[in-house]
Parts: sequence; C-alpha cells; structure tokens
Amino acid sequence: MKSFENSIDAYKEAVDLMPGGVNSPVRAFKSVGMSPIFMESGKGSKIVDIDGNEYIDYVLSWGPLILGHADDRVVEKLKSVAEKGTSFGAPTKLENELAKLVIDRVPSIEMVRMVNSGTEATMSALRLARGYTGRDKILKFEGNYHGHGDSLLIKAGSGVATLGLPDSPGVPESIAKNTITVPYNDMESVRYAFENYGEDLAAVIVEPVSGNMGVVPQKDDFLKELREITEANGTVLIFDEVMTGFRVGYNCAQGHFGVTPDLTCLGKVIGGGLPVGAYGGKREIMEKVAPTGSIYQAGTLSGNPLAMTAGYETLRALNEESYKEINKKVDKLINGFKQASEEFYIPLQINRAGSMVGVFFTNEEVINYETAQTSNLDYFAQYYRNMIEEGVFLPPSQFEGLFLSTAHTDADIEKTVKAIRNAFSKIEK
Ligand code: PMP
Repeated sequence: MKSFENSIDAYKEAVDLMPGGVNSPVRAFKSVGMSPIFMESGKGSKIVDIDGNEYIDYVLSWGPLILGHADDRVVEKLKSVAEKGTSFGAPTKLENELAKLVIDRVPSIEMVRMVNSGTEATMSALRLARGYTGRDKILKFEGNYHGHGDSLLIKAGSGVATLGLPDSPGVPESIAKNTITVPYNDMESVRYAFENYGEDLAAVIVEPVSGNMGVVPQKDDFLKELREITEANGTVLIFDEVMTGFRVGYNCAQGHFGVTPDLTCLGKVIGGGLPVGAYGGKREIMEKVAPTGSIYQAGTLSGNPLAMTAGYETLRALNEESYKEINKKVDKLINGFKQASEEFYIPLQINRAGSMVGVFFTNEEVINYETAQTSNLDYFAQYYRNMIEEGVFLPPSQFEGLFLSTAHTDADIEKTVKAIRNAFSKIEK
C-alpha cells in the first residue's frame, strides 16, 4: 500500500488556510473518498507526489499539458523570457506571435483577444454576443460547463427549455432567468427554445464535445443544425473550445466536425500550462470590443509574456502527425478498458473524441447529462482508488475526462492497461 502521510499532513494544514483546503473544488477528491494528493513535480507523462509516489498522469492539469509536464522546449523558452521581465502592461511581439498561430489554426477566428482563464473567455464572449445583438437571453446545454460566470452557472429549470435557475447561491435569479437550458444533443428542445425565445436569444453556447459530464461527443448533425438555426435567427453561435481547442485535433473541434461558429472560446492547451484564455471570431464581431468598439473588456495580465510563450511553444510543437500519434495510444488504452470490462463483467461505456476519453460504468449509451448520471459512482470510486495504488493518476471525478499527451509512451499505455485489469478485478460488486 502506498503511503500518503505527507499529503495528509499538508491537507490538514491547508483546510485551515483555504476553503476545503484547495483553490478549485474538484481537487479536494471528495467524490472518490480519499484525502487529496499533493504534487511535487512532473516530467513528461509522470508526476510525483510529496510522499515520493510516482504516477502516470492522465489529468495533465485538466487538459492543458498536451506535451506532458515540463517539456524542455517550453521550459527553456520560459526561462529566457522570465529573465527579461515577467509583465509590462504594454504590448509585446509575443502576443502577435500567438495570435497569428491561433488565427491560422482555428477556422472561425479572424481576430482574437487574450484573457487569463477559460471563465474569462466565456464571460467576455457572452457580453460581446449580447452587445453585438442587443439581446439578453442565451441558450446553454445541461451538463455543459463554461466556467463560473454568473450567466453560465445555471442549472436547468424543470421541463424542456425553461428559464434557468441559479446553480449556486450568489447568482441572482434576475440573471439566471436570461439563461435557457436544454438537454445536450437534443435538437427538438433547441427548436422549441427558438420558437419561444428566438428573437431574444443573443447566443447559443456549446461545448462541441462535452467534457464536463464525462466526455460526451456531439451526435449526428447536432453542431451543424445548431449552426443553421442560429444563422437563421441572427443568434451568435459560440463554441466553448476551452477543453477541446487544440486537443480534439490540429484545427480544434470545429475543424474536426467541419462546423464554423461565430465566436470561439479557448483556454487550457493555448496556455501550455500557464494561465491563458482567449476568445475570438468574426472580425465584424470582434471589432465591437474596446478599444475599437464600445463593448468593454480588459486585463492587467492579459497577454502576459510567460503565458504567451508557453502557449506559443506548445502549439508550435504540435503538427497533424502529433495528433495521429496520440490517437493511436488512445486506441490502445480504450482496447485495454474494453478487454478488462469483458473479463471482469464490469458494465462500461467509453466515449472518446481525439485524446479526450470518458469512462462510464453503465450499459447505457451516454449522450447527455441524464444518461451520464446512470454511471455507477461506487464502481468509479473503487476503480479510482485502485488505480492510484497501481500508480495511475486520473481525474478524481466520474464527470471529467482523462487526457493523453505526446509524452505518453507505449510502455505507459501497457502499464496502464495492466493497472486497469488489476483495478477492475478488485471492484467489489
Ligand atoms: N469551458 C470549458 C469547456 C471548461 O472545460 C472549463 C474548465 N474546465 C472552462 C470553460 C473554465 O475554464 P477555467 O477553469 O480556465 O476558468
């Protein structure tokens, strides 16, 4: 059995210092019945905790580290940039370089604005859509997460396409009522919402592959039909590609599915492990942002030299071949899951888009929030703890996807597949 003595001590100290001992709730490991593991270092596909336990890492800081931890190319550049000053509050050419790369790779983006997190990107994109259309309401999907902005921290009301309810104390009802929530992958509900609120809908915001109820890809022509209905109604279509951007493919999810939104939100991979978000899209819309336009949005550290460098070096290191290589490893991993599930009679559904993988302990096809809830959470928690013992670090929640990087080797995958077998064999039913 692994020892977690130092992590347990650090957590005891942390709970007095920070709410729940953490700076982001899921890091508290609540749903897997463990004390949080404190990390010390990472290199490539491996991380080491403060008790010296090593893991193959499939969290990758919740997605950003597509090159793995502390990639030499990124670290070397960061060192040299840091020595020249970490922030100026004036433009740098590094911002131009990352912007050019993003505009080049993301089909919908003609102009981009850098911010500091995915939350900022989605909040700013919504304000822009509202300012641009002069409308107040937005449509989002049940189980999609777009950061913690007030308009987006909304749960579904009861019934199809009803006005939203605050998902958290502190979100005013007056704001929640402007957010309509409908089930993911359900065009009928979207049509119903447009019939009732179409003229008031500033934006539809969607994760093109949902990664926040576990991984749930769009089905059939869902995104294409969203494109058609928003276009017909003068509503801005926003793809929240904070998780999928440069993860699902070289040209993001929109390139992968061949559907181009009006605005796109980015985060995670675009910052290569440093705090970055971005929103961008059609020039005509983006020019409404201050100072060219009157829709206000700003940031003291936006476009920060270190963050721009980590993002630029990360994106520059990726080509179409990199994605193919990662995807081959994902195929092997998924095979391992399937074999173990058959061998040990564990109900299992695997959803996947590129190197985003969702593992659900259910026999039901998972296509939306409701079907995601059919996963057996007790099995998940057991599997999770068993995998930690096997030296594999996974996101400590059923409703998060796991990620691979270019640094994951065939040997890592083989070791992980063995770990899955052992973990499944020990699940008590
Ligand atoms: N949108 C999506 C799709 C996300 O997955 C996340 C974070 N997991 C966010 C927005 C919020 O990003 P951040 O945590 O950087 O604020």
